[in-house]
Amino acid sequence: MKTDGVHTIKAGWVVDGRDSGIQEDVLLEIEQGRIRRCDAPPGADNGPLDLDLSDCMLIPGLIDSHVHLFMSGTADAAVREWQLNAPYARMQAVIETHLKQQRACGVAAVRDGGDYAGHVLRFQQTRPIGNHAAVTVHTAGRAWRCAGRYGRLIGRPPGKGQHLAQAVKVNRERIDHVKIVNSGLNSLKTYGKETAPQFPLEELRAAVQVVAYQKKRVMVHVNGREPVRQSLAAGCHSIEHGFFMGADNLRRLAASQAFWVPTACTMGGYAKHAGPGSREADIARRNLDHQLEQMRQARALGVKVAVGTDAGTIGVHHGRAVREEIKLLLEAGYSIPEAVQCATQHGAMLMGLSRTGVIAPGYWATLLALPGGPQAFPANLATPVWFMIDGRTVFDHRF
Ligand SMILES: [Zn+2]
Repeated sequence: MKTDGVHTIKAGWVVDGRDSGIQEDVLLEIEQGRIRRCDAPPGADNGPLDLDLSDCMLIPGLIDSHVHLFMSGTADAAVREWQLNAPYARMQAVIETHLKQQRACGVAAVRDGGDYAGHVLRFQQTRPIGNHAAVTVHTAGRAWRCAGRYGRLIGRPPGKGQHLAQAVKVNRERIDHVKIVNSGLNSLKTYGKETAPQFPLEELRAAVQVVAYQKKRVMVHVNGREPVRQSLAAGCHSIEHGFFMGADNLRRLAASQAFWVPTACTMGGYAKHAGPGSREADIARRNLDHQLEQMRQARALGVKVAVGTDAGTIGVHHGRAVREEIKLLLEAGYSIPEAVQCATQHGAMLMGLSRTGVIAPGYWATLLALPGGPQAFPANLATPVWFMIDGRTVFDHRF
């Protein structure tokens, strides 16, 4: 396929990322990497096509709004230990492999939640983009956490005697967003156990204001009623995980501009890898059920949900985890267009990618073709046939 000039594509079905239903027999025109036309013309004869995807469903390239590119989803303890300690020179290839896995699954952009050494930030700032279609990477660099609390693997505490806001303000790293850890992990030992917030409300609020002044957003790792309530009161832009946040917080979320990134598939990952019949597997499964119920409520309330997987945690693999999370949205009652919107437009909004995540005139031609129609969804997410990022073909498996 040409990379310049105009080309014409026909798609059997289009789910455009905006929750506007499923269109049939759509004609697209792409010019200089952007969509110029996208509609269903009356009559069958559309003239010559550059690409006939009549038997495929076209969706925007997927966006994973929560990954950790420095870790694999493997449960192999030796590999995980190695990845946690390897120097950047070795980790570069690991990060590249994870991005290849994302591309192979039709993921066009990822939002990284940080690593203790800042490897992903270094990778992002030094990788040669060249002339090929690359997955967009936004990263928090290193997250912020409270000394002595959870988050050692992804971040560091402010300096001694330093407030969070000061630490954020004097940090000169060229990060895309700020990640703050404001609770513990979701417990796999005690069902529904909640932890205290890591930072006082005023300290968190001051930090969010500094970040907003820098025209960036705050993603906050947070579980439990009080830590989520406080994170929303502080003005954080996205609630990451939000296990056991409760109905009041879901209502607050719906009334706010904030997004929720439920990362429900992490519990499926844990359940699979904890010994079958073990207490941890049982709790992971119950956590998942509880999260699915919260997702059901979020849908009814109109909370803006973005698909994020926490890829890199045990059992959550880069790329394929996105379809696991989409399946869970469908299980929680989301329609196909709604679930696709969470994995495309909402992710783009969260990442500040204004011309990505939607199939409509003026947007970048970042398109993923899945075999078969809506009845084949979400199974067909496992076998994408054609993928384009910003008008450049990433793969073509049609023949
Ligand atoms: Zn994470």
